[in-house]
Amino acid sequence: MANGVHFRPTRAEISSQALRHNARIARQLAGDAKILGVIKADGYGHGMCAVAEAISSYVDAFAVAFIDEAITIRNAGFQHPIVILEGCFSSAELPICAHHNFQPVIHHQQQLDDILMLRSVRPLGVWVKVDTGMHRLGWHVDETQAVYETLKNCPNVASITMMSHFANAEKAVHPLNTLQQERFLKACAVTETTLHTSLETSAALLSSALDMPHHASHWIRTGILIYGDNPVELPTELEQPLQPAMRLIAPVIALHQVPAGDTVGYGGTWTANRDSRIATIAIGYADGYPRHAKNGTPVWINGHEVPLVGTVSMDMITVDITDFPTIGLGDEAELWGPHLSVTRVAKHAGTISYDLLTNVTARVPRIHC
Ligand SMILES: *Cc1c(COP(=O)(O)O)cnc(C)c1O
Repeated sequence: MANGVHFRPTRAEISSQALRHNARIARQLAGDAKILGVIKADGYGHGMCAVAEAISSYVDAFAVAFIDEAITIRNAGFQHPIVILEGCFSSAELPICAHHNFQPVIHHQQQLDDILMLRSVRPLGVWVKVDTGMHRLGWHVDETQAVYETLKNCPNVASITMMSHFANAEKAVHPLNTLQQERFLKACAVTETTLHTSLETSAALLSSALDMPHHASHWIRTGILIYGDNPVELPTELEQPLQPAMRLIAPVIALHQVPAGDTVGYGGTWTANRDSRIATIAIGYADGYPRHAKNGTPVWINGHEVPLVGTVSMDMITVDITDFPTIGLGDEAELWGPHLSVTRVAKHAGTISYDLLTNVTARVPRIHC
């Protein structure tokens, strides 16, 4: 289906120009730090190889969640190192990592033992994850020195990068951020890895853009920024704004006059308080439009923002276009994109941009332009 003819105009347009623009901004904000382009989960729903292609000259390495994603990138011909953020699930992955220059994160004892037991492989780069307070993956701060020393003395290991992850990166000021930063610096101090550290992600990069010209660590891991969304709650004013790389589009396929007092859609969750004109749009939760989007979620059509009314169906949504009589059959709505930020839509659905972008389903063709 993905390569075939599509009669339904519903689609996700992916702008490689926007991806490049955002990667360039990441490059500028990062200063001397290196950039890890995070392209896991099919490039946050944008198409992993297309994203890799667009940003390859702006990033120093790619990052994915697990090895299968890394193999896809390597098979597509990209030569960059690829960091595997969850590390290996089994020791069988390590020879493949060594062969392809995949750099696994090591975050628990079994993964460490597996590296030590390896025989006759090319030495590989590894990343050591420190749990500074997120409590999801990583070694306790007090364990890191021993782990580092062990890896440093292991002939299978070519390089070591210390890393950690913020639990509240999107908040410009949060006590745990400070605490995590202090714990990370402490872990790195004892391991002397002054040249190989990685702490910041998109949010930290964007929120520190003004007040922190140089960065604490040497590798910045940027995902969402490259796709054109700013996750920071009080966003930094950038000289050049980010450009959303995905434009999700669907056509108006029906128009209805609904008398005041009638309801629209499943469960009658919206009642017309005046005689209303309702447009039906060909996108629903089976396409990845969030089923929990509430009445009033903005939809952009022909330069106007109109409110979602009624429950999101599997294949359709309904919007109130009473105030805009020029909207007609076949007009194309933007569900999110350059005119309507995905974060705004996400807020109306009780979620975040990452969730919406990664959940656009396979039946929506990605049109790369
Ligand atoms: C996904 C991921 C990132 C990317 O974060 P963004 O907020 O998209 O920049 C960074 N680090 C880790 C460990 C991740 O899992």
